[in-house]
Order: sequence, then structure tokens, then C-alpha cells
Amino acid sequence: MKVMITVLMCLLIWSSSLVFGQSIFEDRKIIILDAGHGGIDSGAVSNNGLQEKNVVLDIVRYMKNWNKNLLESKYDIYLTRNRDTLISLDDRTKLVKHIKPDVFISLHCNHINNPEIKGVELYTYDNNELSLSYGKAILNALKLNLGFKTKNPKHANFQVLRETTGYCPAVLIELGYLSNSNESNYLNNKENRKVLALVILMAI
Ligand SMILES: [Zn+2]
Repeated sequence: MKVMITVLMCLLIWSSSLVFGQSIFEDRKIIILDAGHGGIDSGAVSNNGLQEKNVVLDIVRYMKNWNKNLLESKYDIYLTRNRDTLISLDDRTKLVKHIKPDVFISLHCNHINNPEIKGVELYTYDNNELSLSYGKAILNALKLNLGFKTKNPKHANFQVLRETTGYCPAVLIELGYLSNSNESNYLNNKENRKVLALVILMAI
């Protein structure tokens, strides 16, 4: 709790200086946040029933709220879904192609048969410099502010990355393993999701 409050305070001070330093004529950066799965597709499920679709939806909503309430809507944020519905991968990428944001971020949680495995993983489609720099910034922030175990960005041929890569920098984050009890307990807590949302938003 103490660590969380310190993180929040630091980010608050940092963000307010950014907001004041920004020209009012500057174009707002556009971000599309993609909460994976939804509706009948719950994604990964932890032993105690925590569903990936709900965790990631909560986090993108908190990111949108932080942007509005803390950053005075510094960014233009679009969500591929803002409730518990299943949106096809095609429709998610169509939105990105139409809006051509400054960055596209897809959020997921991992699951594997081995309950010991944990950590955050991040994927880009290729070596696009901007995608990699967004990815590294997010991983660093999660590691430094929250002590997450992270690895270097990896490449993956996921549809939401493959089809958006010509349009904007794009990353897909697996925010820990729901099959690991430490990480699923962490993600099961609303306050932790709020902090995660803030850390990711500030990294961008
Ligand atoms: Zn997923």
C-alpha cells in the first residue's frame, strides 16, 4: 500500500508538470486501447474464477478515467470495447485502420499449465522502432514502479498486431499469468488494477 501511494504521488507530480508544459495548440495524441476477449469469450480464467476479459476491461476503463481526471484529457482515448461484449478481431483492427491512432495497445492476461510461471510479456509484430519503444517504455515502467518480472519484447503474428502494423505502432501486453496465484491475486484487486492502468498510461 505504501509503495502504491508513493508511485501515485510521483506520477501525479510528473504528470502535472507535463500538463502545464504542454501547448494548448498541440494536437492531442490518439490512443486506441483494446481489452481482449469479451462476452462469451472469457479468455484465460484463474483457479478462483477470475476472468481475463473482466480484468483487461477494467484496466482500459481506468486508463480512460485517469486520462480524463488526472491528465485533463491530454490524450484522445478510444476503446475497442467498453463493456462485456465480444468484438471480432476484424472489427478491432478496422477501428484502428479507420482512426490511425498514434499507438494501439491490446491488453491480455496469460495462462499456462505450470502454476509457477509468471511475469509480464509484451509482443510487437516486427521490429518497427516506434512499436518497440512504446513496448520497452511500458515494460520498464511496470518493472520500476511495480516490481513486475518482465522480459524483452517478443514478436508474434497475432491478428491485431499483423493487421494494424502498417497503420500505427502496436503492442500487445500479457499482464501476468492468471495460472499463477500471486499474479492472479494481484489482478483480482481493484486498487491494483487502477495502479496498473496509471503506470501503463504514464509510460505512453
Ligand atoms: Zn487473451
